[in-house]
Amino acid sequence: MRKKIVAGNWKMNLNYAEGISLFSEIVNMVRDEKKGDQQAIICAPFIHLNSLAQLGGSTVSIGAQNCHQKESGAYTGEISAKMIKSVGCEYVIIGHSERRQYFAESDELLAEKTVITLQNDLIPIFCIGETLDERNNGSYFEVLKSQFQKGIFGLEGNDFSKIVIAYEPVWAIGTGLTATSEQAQEVHAFIRKEIDAKYGVEIAENTTILYGGSCNPKNAAELFAQKDIDGGLIGGASLKSRDFVDIVKTFN
Ligand code: PEP
Repeated sequence: MRKKIVAGNWKMNLNYAEGISLFSEIVNMVRDEKKGDQQAIICAPFIHLNSLAQLGGSTVSIGAQNCHQKESGAYTGEISAKMIKSVGCEYVIIGHSERRQYFAESDELLAEKTVITLQNDLIPIFCIGETLDERNNGSYFEVLKSQFQKGIFGLEGNDFSKIVIAYEPVWAIGTGLTATSEQAQEVHAFIRKEIDAKYGVEIAENTTILYGGSCNPKNAAELFAQKDIDGGLIGGASLKSRDFVDIVKTFN
């Protein structure tokens, strides 16, 4: 049975005190209200990670939003996967569209980041997604295929079986425009079919594929009810404890 996950992505929001306060609220609410075996994760800015990992315990897991592709060295200002692991994180978002767009992260770089993440016993949440133009001109299956072929299909099956994929249409991120449940399901089924063709049915059936893009407490239930959607990567709504926990509870 594949894992059901609701992962919040705080992006570059919240100072340290605000982060601790919001996270404490989330942990208490998840502890009191969550019933199923779904996993709640918060992916926070680096400066929050150490404290959040201690506060989250076994209730809410912690992820980083990025890591450097090298083990260590003269890369001023960067953070390695080993450092992230050392503070108790379990996950790292790799290839978010904002990193691809604003930091020019290529598929090849993201493949390196995925490998170093796995080598440090962290789980990559690997993001793929098409732009509005690519959706409108009908090239989105090709775009997505190229992103996961270059980014993660170089992995051996044993490593691939550990990763989480997030389908995040770029046109839906932070825009208030959500993919319809049919649009999202169509893409998730396509991704699972491609994984099946490459790694076999067992790995395909066990890979968690999240939807991300203006997911909120109102639309989460319909999205998560789709056969191939195993939860969400949540941006804006993860900055409000009530909204985030209501999305987590969608699986109750
Ligand atoms: C995201 O940044 O991963 C995201 C899905 O953002 P939002 O939910 O705000 O669209």
